[in-house]
Amino acid sequence: MMDARVSGQRSLRGVAVSPGIIIGKARLVDRSKVKIFYQYLISDDQLNREIERFKEAVRNTQDQLNALKNGMPEKLKGHAFILDSHLMILKDSMIYDASIRRILDDKINAEWALKQSFEEIRQIFSQVDDEYISTRIKDVEYVTERLLRDLSGTQQESLAEINERVIIVAHELSPGDTSELNPSKIMGYITDAGGRTSHAAIMAQALQIPVVVGLESATRLVQEGDLLIVDGSTGEVIVNPEEEVIIEYQEKQLQQEEYKSSITRVSHLPAITLDGHTIAVKANIEFLEEVAAAKDYGGEGIGLYRTEFPYLKSKGTPGEDELFEDYKEVAEIIAPAPVTIRTLDLGADKFASGPKFNRETNPALGLRAIRFCLKRPAIFKTQLRAILRASLYGKVQVMFPMISGLQEVLDAKEILAEVKDELDREKVNYERKIKTGIMIEIPSAVTMAEVLAPHVDFFSIGTNDLIQYALAIDRVNEHVAYMYQPFDPALLRMIREVVRAAKNAGIAVSVCGEMAGDPLCVGILLSLGIDEVSMNTRAIPLVKKVIRSLSLEEIRSDFQKVFELSTANEVRAYVRDRMKKLVPELEQRGYLEI
Ligand code: PEP
Ligand code: MG
Repeated sequence: MMDARVSGQRSLRGVAVSPGIIIGKARLVDRSKVKIFYQYLISDDQLNREIERFKEAVRNTQDQLNALKNGMPEKLKGHAFILDSHLMILKDSMIYDASIRRILDDKINAEWALKQSFEEIRQIFSQVDDEYISTRIKDVEYVTERLLRDLSGTQQESLAEINERVIIVAHELSPGDTSELNPSKIMGYITDAGGRTSHAAIMAQALQIPVVVGLESATRLVQEGDLLIVDGSTGEVIVNPEEEVIIEYQEKQLQQEEYKSSITRVSHLPAITLDGHTIAVKANIEFLEEVAAAKDYGGEGIGLYRTEFPYLKSKGTPGEDELFEDYKEVAEIIAPAPVTIRTLDLGADKFASGPKFNRETNPALGLRAIRFCLKRPAIFKTQLRAILRASLYGKVQVMFPMISGLQEVLDAKEILAEVKDELDREKVNYERKIKTGIMIEIPSAVTMAEVLAPHVDFFSIGTNDLIQYALAIDRVNEHVAYMYQPFDPALLRMIREVVRAAKNAGIAVSVCGEMAGDPLCVGILLSLGIDEVSMNTRAIPLVKKVIRSLSLEEIRSDFQKVFELSTANEVRAYVRDRMKKLVPELEQRGYLEI
């Protein structure tokens, strides 16, 4: 993105994806596309052989992907579904059947038939104006590339074979590549392409290796063996740094490590403000495998268990027993602390393919989350049965996402009551007093909060979507990302109203959007009366540390002033200034830089 030249040293800036500082040697890997293929005609008597050649390439690729999946490092097991989706693409009729049909109908070679099938899919994807969906074409492209490579007999270096401590420099890494990385060897990686929402980026975070993407020209500017400094928190990459820069970053690295371990060491202790108020700090998770990390980082329960993934990976919808086993295990591991299981929030950026879900022009405003569940009660009931059955094995709460008004709360609760009746008739036990809550993430629910509150046991404010819908900013569209601001006065007023309504009705209220894990936002949330926050696991130690440095009385009066300010920039500047004074470490450790 940026390229500044200082003597022999070069600085580049990209998109920070996975935090941490590394200093090491560059290893360039060529992930360029397979060479261009030509069309040639196949005679009638050779058609069956050509189809067999295509099928064999599919089988080989299937074997390779299965081997990759089985050899995945433990930390990545929760992401195996990505390779499952690649396996599904291999056999998808638009690739598999369509290519065979093309070989037969057009009497052409398998490579050309496959390329045409891919181009047709690319055409369809290109008409969808949604960053998340359009980046999923990358998965189809990746599978096509693997097949083409097999058909042409060209080999590619496996990243699993890299046995030195190096920083990988590539044009782009696929999720398959990422799953092959050995985190004890590979220090981190940088790429020309890619964005924050790519699967490879999500997997890098799970591996906890620093990563910067979107550098545009890294593979052109970096030579094999160059010394690199990669700062995965700021997106900065320095090529062949000068001596004093290396020393400066070594110092930063050491400080970051020391600070991280010092706050992690005490993160199992409760987060109590200077004036004695205890704030519950919980973890957001998406996979069962993350529960252990949630506990290690000091999570006092799971405040948000996103349950979409089993639905994204399987061709049909997952069965009750499969879901039950998963929820039961989460409840057992985290007990006696609670887990809030959020019912299915499919749609919008949590995209699932296949006949279950229709393509929509405007999926964020479409048939997603609770709307989908109410339309498909069989799917909803299966999940509710699994949640209720699991409620005996720990402290389980159930939460409905994307509630827009009272009717949806009543309808969802009615279905829950029907499921309870069914279980009663079948003499299946469950926790009768299971707490039922809703996410407040649509502006209409904010307006109606006082009407909704008496019908539920808790509110959880989903700021990710609330910002999206309140400010009309697509949360996955990079062109309006600059407006995606937790400090917008409109949002803060909404949170204030929701807390008021909850307190008046005597129900609990928490925040579980990304804002809750932002150290800069903690003070303002507490000042508004939030006493429970839930966030991505790795944010927990720092947020607890910030809470321990604040006095609730003090910030309540300090942050009143925020409501006299009119723009997000003013609020942000004010909050930064106050937090700098209240928690000087935030600035010293560079957390106010971003
Ligand atoms: C939110 O919208 O803030 C939230 C926590 O849910 P998700 O990010 O899963 O939509
Ligand atoms: Mg949401």
